[in-house]
Amino acid sequence: MNFLDQEIKYIAGVGEKRAKLLNTELGIYTVEDMLRYYPYRYVDRSKFYHIRDIESDTAYVQIKGRITHFEKIGTGRKQRLTALFSDGERSIELVWFQGVKFIQNKYKVGMEYVLFGKPTYFNRSYNFAHPELEPISDLPKIEKMGLQPFYNTTEKMKKGYLHTKTIQKITHHLIVQLYNHPLSEILPSHILQAYHLMNLTQSFIHIHFPKSTQHLQQARMRFKFEELFFIQLNIVRQVDWRNKHFKGFVFSTVGEIFHHFYQHNLPFDLTNAQKRVIKEIRADLGSGRQMNRLLQGDVGSGKTVVALLSMLIALDNGYQTCLMAPTEILATQHYESITQLLQGTTVQVALLTGSTRQKERTTLFENLQNGTLHILIGTHALLEDNVQFQNLGLAIIDEQHRFGVVQRSKLWKKNRQPPHVLVMTATPIPRTLAMTVYGDLSVSVIDELPPGRKPIATYHYYEQKRNALLGFLVEQIDKGRQLYIVYPLIQESEKMDYQNLEEGYEFFKSYFTNHTISMVHGQMKPDEKEKNMQDFATGKTRILVATTVIEVGVNVPNASVMVIESAERFGLSQLHQLRGRVGRGTAQSYCLLLTGVKLSKEARQRMEIMTRTNDGFEIAEADLKLRGPGDFEGTQQSGLPFQLKIANLTKDIQLMTIARDAAQNIIKQDPQLQQAQHQAIATYLQKLKKNSIDWSVIS
Ligand code: ADP
Ligand code: MG
Repeated sequence: MNFLDQEIKYIAGVGEKRAKLLNTELGIYTVEDMLRYYPYRYVDRSKFYHIRDIESDTAYVQIKGRITHFEKIGTGRKQRLTALFSDGERSIELVWFQGVKFIQNKYKVGMEYVLFGKPTYFNRSYNFAHPELEPISDLPKIEKMGLQPFYNTTEKMKKGYLHTKTIQKITHHLIVQLYNHPLSEILPSHILQAYHLMNLTQSFIHIHFPKSTQHLQQARMRFKFEELFFIQLNIVRQVDWRNKHFKGFVFSTVGEIFHHFYQHNLPFDLTNAQKRVIKEIRADLGSGRQMNRLLQGDVGSGKTVVALLSMLIALDNGYQTCLMAPTEILATQHYESITQLLQGTTVQVALLTGSTRQKERTTLFENLQNGTLHILIGTHALLEDNVQFQNLGLAIIDEQHRFGVVQRSKLWKKNRQPPHVLVMTATPIPRTLAMTVYGDLSVSVIDELPPGRKPIATYHYYEQKRNALLGFLVEQIDKGRQLYIVYPLIQESEKMDYQNLEEGYEFFKSYFTNHTISMVHGQMKPDEKEKNMQDFATGKTRILVATTVIEVGVNVPNASVMVIESAERFGLSQLHQLRGRVGRGTAQSYCLLLTGVKLSKEARQRMEIMTRTNDGFEIAEADLKLRGPGDFEGTQQSGLPFQLKIANLTKDIQLMTIARDAAQNIIKQDPQLQQAQHQAIATYLQKLKKNSIDWSVIS
């Protein structure tokens, strides 16, 4: 059996109990899993510190010196032992809470030691709790350790005496074996050569026990590359397979329906950006390849009409289309605006949501199957199995970040060959991420707002300035404007959040006694929610107190102020989405972010970014940087289908491109990975599929 595939429990120094902890806590089952559990940090054991150089951010350090003094403090269980440790220049306190007697016997005052530990700041000075002390005679041994690896451990592991030190021992044992039995390489030699990569065995050795920082860097580079390479290889392969197996429906004509609409129904001139994007879409639809396009455009940039025009091209070519939105409110609004735009045409449109009645459904499904229904708009309900089209040619998904990739692929199955797919989002996905998650998605951008819009002015208010903010709201209301007031709502603190919302509602009701006010939230009955929403949309009520149910879709041009309560609790892209609810009319609009005074560094940065820019792309990039891709709002739901162990989507953009090129070159000359030189990667890809990564959801 391959060394890498051996079970970890049979490895010296592991055993059943630790193996179990490694399994459950870290998902480590095999030697390979263990070797791929990379250190998160290294400490240079050949470097020594002076006590005077210790600073607040000092991590593990080594100091040569002597214990000058021991002192026992307290009694019984509260007893602790302290010592003074001097490097000949200054002294620092050492402290032990356990093993007092043992320590006092083991270490001698006046002897020279090498101290190793992490300083902590306590009572206005630094100390070391439970440091390691080695006799100075061990110095050559210590210095030989060079860069010492540190591994993340969990609380449970620590309780089971599985510390970073223990892992060090285990990996060291494995590495020693590698010296004697080198592994066979998984990357083809032409790749290793072309990109100057360290081989697998050497990389394992030097990522755990680096001989030098240069060795470490090379090892890290290899594993980063490898990680990104296999992700890209899989994507590129699937795309290649798909392109060969599925021809895209060819929409060769732009015909009567499109032209009629364009000339008679379109209520405004398209912006240049809209025109450009429609051209890009048209080219795709006529190309014979299946379109998979991401349409990014900031809130209010006019994506809907682009969607509609694309749908009309499908109709002109004899196909049906659908438009899927994440919420019922949004689906309904799309339905209403699209039916209105299509007035006077023969195009048949229907709405399907969770609340569509059975009777309506029956007719709807019938018309869908016999082809008399042309455009179906709706929520997730569209994905249900009983939704059968006669001939679905184009599927459009709005606000893509709410939908999983899995759901997207369900749409593909609605016809004998996948329909063209257009995914629209106002949360721009940074290119790197799009490339990783969606592989072959082409990207179109509407980077221009319709004329006449004024940029939204955003201000950050601390809670103490609430009165000033209220004064401003009065002014706006007096000018005839409408206001949104949004409260956070998250599951973990749902009860409290609803309470805040209710209290907020009562407060604003009593504050603006002369004005009508309504409230919407997710726990309301759909009818009630709809009515309250409608009252606000028609101007019957002037203030809308709400949770994020209004995040997408609502279009009330007269609403010019968005107040966000406890703004620090929202993510960047959510704040940006909410802000996009205003600025839809001709009046100057405002977004007012209210927060407490005590803000985390990250929250402060979010407020700073929001007040600085209206640019969705900049915000998305900032979001990615602040939160890291795993946490990237939206992708969490759409599910980054893999976890990166070592590469970083923000920092390793270039490497990702390189890995993609490498993958593309290989698939071009060997699409099935049948050549001898690609056997190892084919096998490894299989292994990855079986293990950690759910490739099926990557499209
Ligand atoms: P989003 O991109 O956020 O989905 P919408 O498609 O809802 O934006 O468009 C926002 C508003 O802008 C709508 O009222 C729409 O009718 C209007 N609109 C779209 N395109 C134009 C245009 N070229 N000129 C003027 N108004 C436009
Ligand atoms: Mg929209």
